[in-house]
Amino acid sequence: MRNIRRLFLRCLRLGHRRKWTKVNLLTDYVRYCRLCLVSLAYNSFTDSDVVIESLFEPVYWLVDHVTRWFGIQAQKHVPSVSVCRKCIAPKPARTHHCSICNRCILKMDHHCPWLNNCVGHYNHRYFFSFCLFMTMGCIYCSISSRVMFRDAYAAIEKFKHQEKERLKFAGNETIYSQTPPPTFTFRERVFHKCIIYLWVLCSSVALALGALTLWHAMLITRGETSIERHINKKERKRLLAMGKVFYNPYSYGRGGNWRLFFGVQTKLHWISRVLLPSSHSAYGDGLTWKPPSWIPTKQTSVLAI
Ligand SMILES: [Zn+2]
Ligand SMILES: [Zn+2]
Repeated sequence: MRNIRRLFLRCLRLGHRRKWTKVNLLTDYVRYCRLCLVSLAYNSFTDSDVVIESLFEPVYWLVDHVTRWFGIQAQKHVPSVSVCRKCIAPKPARTHHCSICNRCILKMDHHCPWLNNCVGHYNHRYFFSFCLFMTMGCIYCSISSRVMFRDAYAAIEKFKHQEKERLKFAGNETIYSQTPPPTFTFRERVFHKCIIYLWVLCSSVALALGALTLWHAMLITRGETSIERHINKKERKRLLAMGKVFYNPYSYGRGGNWRLFFGVQTKLHWISRVLLPSSHSAYGDGLTWKPPSWIPTKQTSVLAI
């Protein structure tokens, strides 16, 4: 009787094991499939906004094409050249939609991650002034502290050499003799390292920000924004292939572009509005681009952007 019971229990256990093996196999298979799917579909930049935007793509397409066929009917008081398919609103010339700010930006230049804001019609001047004065400050700091940097670097090298000598001396002595004290203090070492850090940081910022400032200065001279630079480049190539010359309709000559950018109407404004902080607003409303009377105009062939 006892043997029969034992045999029955063994059979049960075996069945139990076999059942669990199959379940484990199935679980492993599901896990493997899930891993494959996640690996294939993984995208670190994907979030709910991207998914919603992708789902709305047919709606955007419809808005884009309907407005192209029937023209812009709504809000006729806003001078526009196209319709923003995300805002479903008229889009004036030089305006672009920022997907991070989720709105249309007048004379959009770029979305600045450092400011966490878009650089456009009303704050482009502040952005450029910040870059320019920051670069000038860093260059001044780098040049004026170069002798201090050289001395600090030499002192750190000297400290290193002295430390090596001290350890070598300590190694030659018997274990009972005392290790000689360091020839420099902790404070001296920190002071020299801070000067090296200051100079390296200032020089790096001066180089990086200087390059950005130069790039923006070039764009302002040409009367373009960063986005228009790409659009105009393509347009220039396209027209060149047709044997035509492209003229930027928003460029009023080198001097004119700079004067319009900083709002310089008189010679005194170069000091009061450029060198000194000024809260004057950008010229115009950002919707129309008629040049002011104090800017010398030139004949250009107007091309909508
Ligand atoms: Zn928009
Ligand atoms: Zn933005």
